[in-house]
Amino acid sequence: MTFVMTINSGSSSLKFKLYDMPEEKVLCSGNCERVGEKSGIFTFKYDGKKEVSYPVFPNHAVAAKLVVDTLLEKGIIKDYDEIRAIGHRVVQGGKYFSSSAFFDEDTEKKIESLIPLAVLHNPAHLVCFRAFKEVLPNCPAVATFDTAFHQSMEPEDYVFPIPFVLTEKYDIRRYGAHGTSHQYLAQEGLKYLEGVEHPKIISCHIGSGASITAIKDGKCVATSMGLTPLGGIMMGTRTGDMDPSVFNYVVSVTGKSAEEVYQMFNKKSGFLGVSGISNDQRDIIEAADNGNPRAILANKLFNRRILDYIGQYYVRLGGCDLIIFSAGIGENEPRTRRDVCKALESSLGVKINEEVNAKLRGKDMLISLPESKVKVAVIPTDEEIMIARDAYNMCIKGKQ
Ligand code: ADP
Repeated sequence: MTFVMTINSGSSSLKFKLYDMPEEKVLCSGNCERVGEKSGIFTFKYDGKKEVSYPVFPNHAVAAKLVVDTLLEKGIIKDYDEIRAIGHRVVQGGKYFSSSAFFDEDTEKKIESLIPLAVLHNPAHLVCFRAFKEVLPNCPAVATFDTAFHQSMEPEDYVFPIPFVLTEKYDIRRYGAHGTSHQYLAQEGLKYLEGVEHPKIISCHIGSGASITAIKDGKCVATSMGLTPLGGIMMGTRTGDMDPSVFNYVVSVTGKSAEEVYQMFNKKSGFLGVSGISNDQRDIIEAADNGNPRAILANKLFNRRILDYIGQYYVRLGGCDLIIFSAGIGENEPRTRRDVCKALESSLGVKINEEVNAKLRGKDMLISLPESKVKVAVIPTDEEIMIARDAYNMCIKGKQ
């Protein structure tokens, strides 16, 4: 057995998965929630069972120790040293990382320097990395960046038309996000494109956070999220792209500070803001079914923004062989897929099997009809396996 652990940390959470590599077998997974609060939640899944307990996690180091001790206690590992590598998900790698990197001092420093671009996430990743280093000092670690896959964009796709001195001095540009997911989807999508010479894929990672990426020959050429995950299409609570003057105008008419408006655009907008009901699309669909006009509008707005990007990327790629739907909404919500694909019928010749689509939830499957000019597939995303593969390849396979 070769154990590799993946870690996905947030400011108050720590999600983990333990794999046996290179077989890619998931041995257990779990989550430490409410780190730093008075009461925590610890979920541990293994052997088809799910256990929930409520320990207090004063900090990430305590959470990390509990995770590793639980693996020992359950007999999943016999010794700390059996964990041969850890892969950490890191949200922002800026201009420094176009692939995964060993989590050494230099990587730590660069992640630290990028904190202004990922104020909540990058500090949490560092805290978590240090926490595991304390518990498992001999275990090598790798950082896998959400932004790395998007580093192949050309300047026309990532430069914002602001005074260039700002672009140069502060590295203000499109970095994108969800890169690990889009890369996974690009690789998995190839099974539907046998014999296609230079595959062109548009991947729609649409969950609570949502982004769309144009991929040619396995490389990202354009992506919808911008400097931060606020850009691109409308999301659960984020606006996505708008006329930038909306920001200034909201500040001036409400008297709120720039920071308050920024928080509003990140946390109170999107599905939640338009519908006034919820950030969860399931609630919006239910309300729309009951005739709620703002819920109907929110859904239409969401679909329209997806279509805007598919149209844009169809042109950017010079065509498209495969459109992929993924993440919470893309994998589980047939109506969003149906409505988006219907709207693509007259322009792109997209035709899906509506019966197959209507029943499909969380499974990897082609939903387009053979006569469709563009194939359409649902592919459940798996960012963790990409992280585990990189950690295994760099720390174990590469050293053999
Ligand atoms: P996150 O960006 O937090 O990872 P998810 O990918 O889990 O988000 O997506 C959450 C969104 O997916 C919500 O809007 C939710 O309504 C929608 N959704 C629809 N069906 C499901 C489902 N069966 N499970 C989870 N989310 C679902």
